[in-house]
Amino acid sequence: MLERIPPAAEAKATPMIAQYRAIKAAHPDCLLFYRMGDFYELFFEDAETAAKALNIVLTKRGKHEGQDIPMCGVPVERAEDYLARLIAQGFRVAICEQTEDPAETKKRGGKALVKREVVRLVTPGTITEEHLLDPARANSFLAVANGSEPGIYGLASVDISTGAFILGEANEKLLEAEIARLEPAEITAPEELCTRSPLARLAREAGLPLTPFGCPTDSASAERRIKDYFGLANLDGLGLLSDAELAAAGAAIFYIERTQFSARPNLSLPSRTAQSARMEIGAAARASLELARTLAGAREGSLLATVDKTMTAQGSRLLAERLAAPLTDPEEIARRLDAVAFFIDEPALRRGVRACLKGMPDIARALSRLALKRSGPRDLAAIRGGLAFAEEIARVLAGARPLPQELAQAAEAIGAVDPSLQLRLQNALAETLPLSRQDGGFIRSGFDARLDGFRALRDERRGVIASLQARYAELAETKQLKLKHNHFLGHFIEVPQGQGEKFLRPPHNEIFVHRQTMAGAMRFSTKELAELEAKLASAADEALAREQALFEELAALCLGAGAALKNLGSALAAIDVTAALAEVADARRWAGPKVDRSLAFEIEGGRHPVVEEALRAQGLPFCENGCDLSGAPSEGGKIAVVTGPNMAGKSTYLRQNALIAILAQMGSYVPAKRAHIGIVDKLYSRVGAADDLARGRSTFMVEMIETAAILNQATERSLVILDEIGRGTATFDGLSIAWSVIEHLHEKNRSRALFATHFHELTRLAERLERFVNLTVRVTDWNGEVVFLHEIVPGAADRSYGVQVAKLAGLPAPVVSRARELLAEFEAAERSVDANRQSADLPLFTASRQPPAELSDPLGEALDAIDPDSLSPRAALDALYRLKALRTKAGH
Ligand code: ADP
Repeated sequence: MLERIPPAAEAKATPMIAQYRAIKAAHPDCLLFYRMGDFYELFFEDAETAAKALNIVLTKRGKHEGQDIPMCGVPVERAEDYLARLIAQGFRVAICEQTEDPAETKKRGGKALVKREVVRLVTPGTITEEHLLDPARANSFLAVANGSEPGIYGLASVDISTGAFILGEANEKLLEAEIARLEPAEITAPEELCTRSPLARLAREAGLPLTPFGCPTDSASAERRIKDYFGLANLDGLGLLSDAELAAAGAAIFYIERTQFSARPNLSLPSRTAQSARMEIGAAARASLELARTLAGAREGSLLATVDKTMTAQGSRLLAERLAAPLTDPEEIARRLDAVAFFIDEPALRRGVRACLKGMPDIARALSRLALKRSGPRDLAAIRGGLAFAEEIARVLAGARPLPQELAQAAEAIGAVDPSLQLRLQNALAETLPLSRQDGGFIRSGFDARLDGFRALRDERRGVIASLQARYAELAETKQLKLKHNHFLGHFIEVPQGQGEKFLRPPHNEIFVHRQTMAGAMRFSTKELAELEAKLASAADEALAREQALFEELAALCLGAGAALKNLGSALAAIDVTAALAEVADARRWAGPKVDRSLAFEIEGGRHPVVEEALRAQGLPFCENGCDLSGAPSEGGKIAVVTGPNMAGKSTYLRQNALIAILAQMGSYVPAKRAHIGIVDKLYSRVGAADDLARGRSTFMVEMIETAAILNQATERSLVILDEIGRGTATFDGLSIAWSVIEHLHEKNRSRALFATHFHELTRLAERLERFVNLTVRVTDWNGEVVFLHEIVPGAADRSYGVQVAKLAGLPAPVVSRARELLAEFEAAERSVDANRQSADLPLFTASRQPPAELSDPLGEALDAIDPDSLSPRAALDALYRLKALRTKAGH
């Protein structure tokens, strides 16, 4: 950012620097791309920052206040590449263009400066360029605003690159889950939410840029903004919107206007789905189940990557959206499943459709670039191509037996586009297209007579001259007539002096106008020649201008059909997703799940879709496992506790059941022989124990926060997956917590639940809780080596095999044998304690096993309570003094 300079110093700046600084001052949070001819230049600190970020040369230009002005620049032609790199590094860029013709500037006097204005802010959540976008991912920004009710956030997610505009609401608890579902590239919110609210923390933790906006969020101004944008007389058509949703929608439009200036994205009307229409999946569950990416952040290895066999970018984005938001309405799920079943039953048709989809252009994004006037000929071609593909698909589908509802609707949307549009684009566009419309040459010859005329003149200048010369020679009956050109006269006719005399008399003098008499030659011109002269001079310009006009005309035609084209794009995406899911189901022998409103959770022959694929790649088999957590509505679901050694396959089993529920409710077949699932309203998954250093919380703290959320929110309809609860603390603490968590889940939440644990004591709960089931993973001991069978069977693990696993991992032999000795000793001691045990009911708290009271640890607690990221330097210093004091008190 620029240093502040006093006005007096500003006065000394050159006019250009003054202009630069004024523009920069209006956009202090952006790097300023300042247009100078064929370059965008950056100055001062912006130049230093950009040169470093882009690894380009930092130069200097002139002086300001006696100091060199640092400068760097990027060629306009290649600006997209550089923008992509800056945006990826989290910068925002203001694009400042020359907004007047330099010729105009000259008219204003020698020293006048070309007018410049910022025409667009490029931010991570508002990009539209093909180059900058990932075809397989939506790219949205999220506007967050409060309504009148405290603690309720309105959310508006807008993808400018496709026009999607989605509204919703979240309370404080749900905010994180919604951000994880919507995956925005940036968040914008009123100033106060950016500094003092959970939003600031959530954005920081998710690594998302959070941009404050200064727009009023009251309902009246939000409503006005929405009406103006969409040209609506009232908002009745949008359904009932809460004032928080209204505020967020208004804020989203404000942010678009702030970043896009006069350009208008082709937004769909805002639409909302109730929170209850989607399976609720918390951010931690989403991450731990590796739905859209692995814990390491890669797409490869996620559930999404494993099931994504779509052929088109739009299909890939729709699949991601469906996977992120499984449905909760069995009828809607059944409609999707019917469509998948149809494509499974018709493999030839499916192959035909998929072959047609291959190479299909991205209609939605092309359309959006056309609306924003950031388009090129290839965007028109994308629409032409999309229409041609659609026509082919419609033809293939037309031959099929009655289509299921989903596909019939899609086919209808394909048929709704006016066929004349495709014909017009087909006729208009050339075979090979330039990247930029400014290059011209994208209109097919023969499409427009005027353009052809200009091009003929431009390209056939010589031919035109020769034919005119021949015509005049014939007219004047002299072969000695020549058409010539010089700078003084332009094009002229020259004949020998003797011949020239007759040109001065009728009838020739009606056509030929005398211009010059030279020694031995006379020069004439004609009206036609003068016109040709003017035409030739501007033919190239005119050809280009005519092409631009035709481009605008075609773009307008596409935008006129915008709504139909958008529907077409969505219909093709839905067909793609459905055929892709059928492909996966067919190839991997997946089964169509039965999804209803019961509390069933009955899986037969279930598999983990990602682990199975990974094993298959290595030629290894996956061991199928069933699962039954079904319960009667009046009672609640079952809780299954899985015990077994590490590496036996407990986590895999837990996750696979969660993934099967997600797949089923997104309307996909599932990796199982048979599945019956009663709608899951919320999915909780606390799997694995990753330290959350960014939040400055210990593993155990994170685990307990998440467990608390589950116990407070899970319902009878929920599915709860808990892996190794209580591992992050002392054994007795951990066991006690795990024990009481299960009791609470069983008695209060009554959710269907799966629990993996290494606390064998928990298996005793079977004696006390009626809907409690013990499961274990079969393991055999073969010549002292542990062999994992990965088969889940009823019952409890007989022993933990920890020592065997340690041996497998390569612990030195003496350590392993010493551990065996110790284990034998400990087990003997345990048996004698067991014999003395009085109460089977509360095995943990018998006197003989009562652990010594935990030493209280005030220093540790004080440390845990500190959130370093939120401390001011002053508060950090205070905290240090406090900690030192505690340590002294503790007698260290
Ligand atoms: P645990 O949670 O018991 O420590 P994991 O679930 O992490 O064990 O599984 C360990 C490894 O065992 C997995 O990475 C996988 O390769 C293999 N595995 C797990 N379940 C199965 C299965 N059902 N069939 C085949 N291999 C499996």
